[in-house]
Amino acid sequence: MSIAENVAQIRAQMNAAAIAAGRDPSEIQLCAATKMNDAEAVRQAIAAGVDCCGENRVQELTQKLSENAYTGVPVHFIGHLQTNKVKQVVGKVDLIQSVDRIGLMQAIEKEAARQGVVQNILLEINIGREESKSGFYSEEIFPVLDQFMNFPHLRIKGLMAIPPICQHPGENLQFFEEISQLSVDIREKKYDNVTVDCLSMGMSDDFTDAIACGSTMVRVGTAIFGARNYAKPHL
Ligand SMILES: *Cc1c(COP(=O)(O)O)cnc(C)c1O
Repeated sequence: MSIAENVAQIRAQMNAAAIAAGRDPSEIQLCAATKMNDAEAVRQAIAAGVDCCGENRVQELTQKLSENAYTGVPVHFIGHLQTNKVKQVVGKVDLIQSVDRIGLMQAIEKEAARQGVVQNILLEINIGREESKSGFYSEEIFPVLDQFMNFPHLRIKGLMAIPPICQHPGENLQFFEEISQLSVDIREKKYDNVTVDCLSMGMSDDFTDAIACGSTMVRVGTAIFGARNYAKPHL
């Protein structure tokens, strides 16, 4: 199937999942996870109507920005970000979804201040407490928010999570629900410069489950572009 057909099918599944959950389909965005796909594939996905693009690697982001690959939609950063690379990301993306540690928040704050910009971020939660994954543990979030006045050039827009790989259908639901609950708890505290309108969760294999649990943004790669070819040299 073509990228356009894939996007249309995913949209239909997203809409059905939203309606089944009693939600308005228009409140859920489709973010194309574009890693390892070239500018031409990205343009096709945008033409097919994805809401935004999410890039994982700084090098690919820089390359595709130089090719104007994302024209027409916002681009987000969704991968692990090293502090020595924040200069190449801050001010260039609408949202950094993968803010997973205080040291990174400090580096982004410093660079945003230097550029005189305000950077939108999501806090990434390591919801399955996996050593192989980055992100804050849920209980670390409130201490972070309590010192958020020290980050005047950051705006928290919500949470992002990648749950553990699950073997059985439905196993993910508890993780998605936990994130959803955390967002409710944060909202109740009414921190300055913190909104939790964005819950970025759900990928190719589990986006309908994520929508059932309140996701407002699914990040989909494989189901749009096909399997990634890891044998091919990276861009
Ligand atoms: C690759 C990636 C995705 C998309 O994964 P698929 O299973 O290909 O849909 C989503 N989020 C992040 C952070 C990713 O790196």
